[in-house]
Amino acid sequence: MTAPFFSPDLRKKWRQPEFILIGGSSLAVGALLLIIISLLSQEHHEAKEDAARAASNIVQLIEADVLRNAELYDTSLQGMIKAWQRPDLINLSPELRHLVLFDRFTSARFKGDLLLLDKNGYILADSTSIYPRPENVSDRPHFQEHAQTPSPDLKVGGPFKSRWGFKDWCISFSRRMSAPDGSFMGIASGAMRLSYFKQLFRTVDIGPGSSVSLINTQGYMLARHPEMAGRELIGEDFSQTPNFKRILKEGVGSFTSISALDNTERLYTFSRVGDLPLIVVVGQSMSEVYAIWRRNAQLVGIATSVLCLGIFGLTLLLGRELRLRRQAQTELKVRAETDPLTGLANRRKLDEVLRVEWLRAIRSSKPLALLMVDVDDFKAFNARHGHHGGDEALRNVARAITRNIRRPGDFVARYGGEEFVVVLPETDLEGARIIAETIRQGVQAMPVYGGGTHPLTVSIGLAARVVKSGEVLSELINAADKALYEAKDRGRNRVEVAGL
Ligand code: GH3
Ligand code: MG
Ligand code: MG
Repeated sequence: MTAPFFSPDLRKKWRQPEFILIGGSSLAVGALLLIIISLLSQEHHEAKEDAARAASNIVQLIEADVLRNAELYDTSLQGMIKAWQRPDLINLSPELRHLVLFDRFTSARFKGDLLLLDKNGYILADSTSIYPRPENVSDRPHFQEHAQTPSPDLKVGGPFKSRWGFKDWCISFSRRMSAPDGSFMGIASGAMRLSYFKQLFRTVDIGPGSSVSLINTQGYMLARHPEMAGRELIGEDFSQTPNFKRILKEGVGSFTSISALDNTERLYTFSRVGDLPLIVVVGQSMSEVYAIWRRNAQLVGIATSVLCLGIFGLTLLLGRELRLRRQAQTELKVRAETDPLTGLANRRKLDEVLRVEWLRAIRSSKPLALLMVDVDDFKAFNARHGHHGGDEALRNVARAITRNIRRPGDFVARYGGEEFVVVLPETDLEGARIIAETIRQGVQAMPVYGGGTHPLTVSIGLAARVVKSGEVLSELINAADKALYEAKDRGRNRVEVAGL
């Protein structure tokens, strides 16, 4: 049967030093692990925050650059419109007119062409040639939009491939030209080559597995670095992807999600470019975000494991030493309280037990009985059978006494020589007399040693009383002793009760 969890035995066991040691170091190791886990999880969190902060800085840099260029385009467009609306412009030579219209545009990087279109979509002025090409571009969506909406604001169009010049991907910046009565007069538009963004993105350090993209608010990809092998991403529609929807909804911020492009988990940090319908998105691969943290965590994990194993190893070693010491101490204590010949408690233990039982008897007001047992004519026995035989006989007597002591509190000790003492707590005189008698008979009934004719007998002096405080223990011992002498006097092999 297993002991209940809080049984006294178990509680005593848990109070043993080795268990306290194991418990203490387990707690210390537990606390250490808790601290390390909480530090690592904090660092894990901070790694993500740091990455988002770094990405946000990149986004802001790109945003500022794109915004500056967009402003340049806008300034040029507004300049063109203003110049075109001057009545004296028509009097200038075509070369001078070209110079007046397009001089502010020279500093814009990756510029495509700037055009002034009349209300039918024919080119009025063209930054790439002094004499405008006889083309009609009224089919461009941004032209249609301006024609239909009176807003004079700057418009940023979706990605398209330019028809002339470099013939690569562009986006358009355009403004409406309106007559004083508000009617549509045409547009001023400028194309920005998307390779500008590619160049810009190349200059920022985003780390392996990460990407920078520019996407417009319609969900069309305008530029991405790095490019994807075998896939032209520019102009691709991402408007239905969950990530784009979330980016559009939140405007500025960051979140973690799986990329629709390559199924990689990324930390997306994004921001709208001013009021323009453009969004810069930096996507950092999560494995890169946590790369340093993972390396640190591995190192800390290994160091902690070694430390914990070391602590446990030392604890077990120390625990074993403590257990051995405790066992040795217990053994020493038992030895110090045991009579080597009979294996009974010795005189020292008897004194201790008597003191305890005496005090207990005072407290409980229950009788305490004491038997003084002395082997009869043992000198003669020794003479007959030698000391070795005498020793053997003493062991037999010890066994015979012990056999007749049944209650848990009853106690037998070798008092010295061939004398024994039996302590019977909570036993009155009559009860003690019965036990004394059974002991006497038990010894007498032992097989005669060496096949002789003289059975070994004992005389027993008995004293029992309810002890009162103020009385002394030695009185009870003396009384039992006296009773023993009386038993000897009255012929031995008998029990005598102390007259109290
Ligand atoms: P009585 O009936 O009056 O007690 O006579 P007795 O001979 O038993 O008493 P006494 O005290 O004169 O003798 C005790 C003897 O017990 C003396 C000693 O030789 C013997 N004895 C004491 N201790 C031991 C022991 O450890 N081994 C052996 N073999 N004998 C012992
Ligand atoms: Mg004696
Ligand atoms: Mg004797």
